[in-house]
Amino acid sequence: MAIDSVNLRKDFPIFSNPETQDLIYFDSGATAQKPQVVIDGITRYYQTHNANIHRGVHRLGEWSTADWENSREMIAEFVGAYPSELIITRNTTEALNGVAYGWADEHLAIGDKILTTLLEHHADLVPWQQTCFRTGAELLIAKATDDGQLDETDWLQKLKTPGVKLVAMSYVSNVTGAVNDVARLTKLVRQHQPEARIVIDAAQAVPHLPVNFHALGVDFLAFSGHKVYGPMGIGALLVKKALLDSQEFKPWLFGGGMIDAVWPDHATFHPDAADRFTAGTPDVASLMGLAAATQYLQKLGMENVVSHEQELVKTAYEKLSKIPEIKLIGPNPSEFPRVGSVAFIYEGVHAHDVAQVLESQNIAVRSGHHCVMPLHTAMRWMATTRVSFGVYNTLAEIDRLVIALDQVKRLLKHD
Ligand code: PMP
Repeated sequence: MAIDSVNLRKDFPIFSNPETQDLIYFDSGATAQKPQVVIDGITRYYQTHNANIHRGVHRLGEWSTADWENSREMIAEFVGAYPSELIITRNTTEALNGVAYGWADEHLAIGDKILTTLLEHHADLVPWQQTCFRTGAELLIAKATDDGQLDETDWLQKLKTPGVKLVAMSYVSNVTGAVNDVARLTKLVRQHQPEARIVIDAAQAVPHLPVNFHALGVDFLAFSGHKVYGPMGIGALLVKKALLDSQEFKPWLFGGGMIDAVWPDHATFHPDAADRFTAGTPDVASLMGLAAATQYLQKLGMENVVSHEQELVKTAYEKLSKIPEIKLIGPNPSEFPRVGSVAFIYEGVHAHDVAQVLESQNIAVRSGHHCVMPLHTAMRWMATTRVSFGVYNTLAEIDRLVIALDQVKRLLKHD
């Protein structure tokens, strides 16, 4: 069933607000707009069930606890994990820092190596830099190809370096849209570094692809609710059951809610991972909002989301490639797997100026380095303009983008 994005726009109240109803929103890579069902999920919780979970025996406490547990089940099912493998965080950044503090600090030392890539968002780079400072481990960074994919030859060579204990990589690049074949790369890690743990930054994958944690076979996977049409302030870290059962992965936040028993000088921790990793009062309402978002996507069908967005990416790539001033970033989507966005450089015009002209034409895009400075520096891109997609975007909006880009030439390009 094809997605009827014109009709579906009506599910998103921001597009009926008089001030933004004509807005072409091409910045879902930064954060997606929220459907009414998500907003309703949050509001309903505060109107009807608000109470702290796992504490009160009164009825609100019981309802709220049920909301928390049911939402956890829905979200875990959406990404192919057991509910017990789902640790709730604020976002991808916090989830990846959790792996650094809850696993890497204890398991890495001088002589060990973390392998990551040049395509990583700062959220999947800076925590590893800091881990290396704390533990004495060394950071290896695999190169990118000229068309913005992972250079697998360089990655494999670095993977074989003795001492690689952690492999961190994104599923989808937020700049080039390139999709890593995570299941295949995971097999290579298991073959060459059987003891290494694998952590995947899936922030740009979960909104655009069906993601199945068990099928990928990785150890950790992080994503943010707000990019999957859910609220800001809620995200997830999926952790393989074996790492939780063996307590190889440990909590990194401590306090109430996560303990079993407490004495003045020490404490023991909850046997269930879901509770052991929930220190303090959690954001139940936002979790309900995220669960509502996963239900919304499931109703649309992730296979329909993929084909709709593939068409948008291919069409945008094709149409923008016909503009002589534009240099496209990232692989050709007709030849290589690519989702979510199309970024470009407009020769002779700074990306911020391009974004400003587009804003004047009612089109919201992102400009800059998109929190991936090392890639921009290595490729000698001062800044790029990124057009990123959601389920509510239409092919007609891409035509409007192409027309609006004419204004860039008219107003800013002086040969
Ligand atoms: N990784 C990738 C690939 C991203 O695109 C982003 C958000 N731009 C992040 C991590 C960080 O997400 P958050 O800010 O929600 O933690």
